[in-house]
Amino acid sequence: MAVFKMGTKNIGIDLGTANTLVYIDGEGIVLSEPSVVAKNSRTGEIISVGSEARDMIGRTPASITAIRPMKDGVIADYDTTVAMMQYFIEKALGDTNAKPYVMVCVPSGVTEVEKRAVIDATRVAGARDAYIIEEPFAAAIGAGLPVMDPTGSMVVDIGGGTTDVATISLGGIVSSRSIRTAGDRINDAIIAYVRQHYNLLIGERTAEQVKINIGSASVAKAKDIKNMAIRGRDLVTGLPKTVDVTAVDIAKSMEDIVSDIITAVKETLEETSPEIAADVIDHGIVLTGGGALLRNLAEVISDATKVPVFIAQDPLDCVAIGTGESLKNIDAMKKHK
Ligand code: ADP
Ligand code: MG
Repeated sequence: MAVFKMGTKNIGIDLGTANTLVYIDGEGIVLSEPSVVAKNSRTGEIISVGSEARDMIGRTPASITAIRPMKDGVIADYDTTVAMMQYFIEKALGDTNAKPYVMVCVPSGVTEVEKRAVIDATRVAGARDAYIIEEPFAAAIGAGLPVMDPTGSMVVDIGGGTTDVATISLGGIVSSRSIRTAGDRINDAIIAYVRQHYNLLIGERTAEQVKINIGSASVAKAKDIKNMAIRGRDLVTGLPKTVDVTAVDIAKSMEDIVSDIITAVKETLEETSPEIAADVIDHGIVLTGGGALLRNLAEVISDATKVPVFIAQDPLDCVAIGTGESLKNIDAMKKHK
């Protein structure tokens, strides 16, 4: 007979490429930190995890490496992912010897092998057992969409590694697309553009700041945004240099990526039934994930699809909230095993 230990908690984890969030049933989001681990390059010993490790990116001496163990929405470095999850679970739960049941999300496009790896990693990291929820579904719940109703909803979750697009009705995903094009690719595009057009070498963290400060999904609307002074290394002299970069240039650097996201949205809409398409026209498309905050993105998606587009409240928290809310069903899932 199964005896449930007192204090066994159900928790939800949004294991994102950029950020990991932990939700405790009955409490809400208790932790939100970058998915980064700093290690001693020689011994493999972990030096720091989360925010502290993130601040080391691009600034580490030869003896330390800052690793982002998740890439394109899936586990790229298994052992480091386990170590990171273990640290976050312990930090979130505090002192407890009761292992939690964990609901963890994965992007909709992942393979069975990639899904299995997430379940295994979660168990090794300290879960009593692990269950999977599809990310766009969690995002839609977290954004407050009526996912169980007989009406079509559409959610576009733009994270660091993937953009997940899905239409949902009656508790299930009707059509979906997951492309490995999102926030990280935008940063890479900014780095490449600034290098090519300004002869300036900048790092990932600087590119991220540029994107947040002056980034725009619309080149036309970028004309109203101020320039930004960017510091980096001059490719010609090899010395530090500050350059004034225009928002129009930054918008141009990410044009192709924005267009890939729009294509994914259009294709998902085209694949859905006319009834659901009609529902989506009525209720609009909801954007979640950190990428939803990119300036003018909602407008350009709306212009391209002729459908109203809204940004969810607290877009960075939606997947974690949805994963947490789905913990209500975890007892039913346990019995099915
Ligand atoms: P993931 O689920 O993959 O961990 P998140 O939903 O946490 O990703 O979103 C992280 C992404 O959102 C990063 O690529 C980050 O650069 C981007 N982001 C965060 N804030 C903004 C902003 N204000 N404008 C544009 N992009 C942003
Ligand atoms: Mg995410």
